Amino acid sequence: MPASLHSGFGFHLSPLSRSLDLAAMAEPAGLKPKRILVTGGTGLVGKAIAEVVADGEGRPEEEWIFVCSKDADLTNAADTKALFEKHKPTHVIHLAAMVGGLFKNIKYNLDFWRRNVHINDNVLHSAYESGARKVVSCLSTCIFPDKTSYPIDETMIHNGPPHSSNFGYSYAKRMIDVQNRGYFEQHGCRFTAVIPTNVFGPHDNYNIEDGHVLPGLIHKVYLAKKNNMALSVWGTGKPRRQFIYSRDLARLFLWVLREYDEVEPIILSVGEDEEVSIRDAAESIVEAMDFKGELLFDTTKSDGQFKKTASNSKLRRYLPDFQFTPFKQAVKETCDWFNANYDAARK
Ligand code: NAP
Ligand code: GDP
Repeated sequence: MPASLHSGFGFHLSPLSRSLDLAAMAEPAGLKPKRILVTGGTGLVGKAIAEVVADGEGRPEEEWIFVCSKDADLTNAADTKALFEKHKPTHVIHLAAMVGGLFKNIKYNLDFWRRNVHINDNVLHSAYESGARKVVSCLSTCIFPDKTSYPIDETMIHNGPPHSSNFGYSYAKRMIDVQNRGYFEQHGCRFTAVIPTNVFGPHDNYNIEDGHVLPGLIHKVYLAKKNNMALSVWGTGKPRRQFIYSRDLARLFLWVLREYDEVEPIILSVGEDEEVSIRDAAESIVEAMDFKGELLFDTTKSDGQFKKTASNSKLRRYLPDFQFTPFKQAVKETCDWFNANYDAARK
């Protein structure tokens, strides 16, 4: 397994840190019981992990606990501490966050920063205080510098300002990487993070104003079909994105939780060659939903960051054979889920 010693801050860990790194990293052998707390357990990614675990990927020694804001408001330090004291997790998958698509980010940069900084600090510190052995948090390829060379890799998180549209979310997420490093250097904690690209699937937020592009377009196609209208795609359709299906991401999360021993984050993405334009993505939804109407591009709306092309080389060094669900198949499954669950879907 490659043991990356790059700190992500432009310097390398010292030999002393390296031996601490490897010693602290070693998970004791054998089937020790694991109590895994998943924050954000009711969201897009949390539900996908719950489904993958229930579908046979869970292990007998693992007890899974999925929580949401009804269990504890994680912006509140006392509530968060009480949640961790109640469950005493050995492992944590930390997903809870204020999340949204481009247009929600543009409107609420301050709220994204404040809520997510509070949630992340409360969760990481409660995990430390309650003795959790490992925490896997969730960053995003949105948080990388706007002006950058491509492809983006894990060493580039702090290289320059993020795109102005989502600076609040981006800086709050970057601080998870700073904290993980701090907990490791001061306390030897094995707190790490994954960096997924744009995620989609069942149980997403299908709200047209606030959600991400695929759930927004799926909802818009549903309504356009019902009302015999054109589909309005926002922006020029030219920006490019790598999308990851929530069920693929869930399987990768299980691997990271069980096998990935670095503090350094890891990008979870399809290959660079699988990046598609927003127009391509819209056309895949049109095909999956058998929409016969017209596509219009509303260029009064923002395009956001043009691209964030990420390298999955590090992932491929660990998991050369991991099979991603083909994009069109994943889009079809997601559209079918939305059609079948329209009344109950978050929107
Ligand atoms: P989501 O569907 O919006 O779900 C968010 C989850 O966080 C929900 O379970 C929500 O609980 C919980 N939550 C929010 N505020 C909370 C609070 N104050 N206290 C407790 N729980 C709170 O989000 P997602 O798309 O699954 O995202 C999961 C993670 O992946 C996030 O960290 C996100 O930044 C990251 N990510 C997402 C994408 C993407 O495209 N969606 C891409 C890259 C990274 P309630 O249901 O009770 O509100
Ligand atoms: P991002 O990937 O973090 O930028 O966020 P989104 O998932 O919201 O994707 C934004 C990109 O999709 C921008 O280029 C938008 O112009 C484009 N887009 C096209 N139609 C829509 C839509 O209905 N909703 C959203 N959120 N974005 C759209």
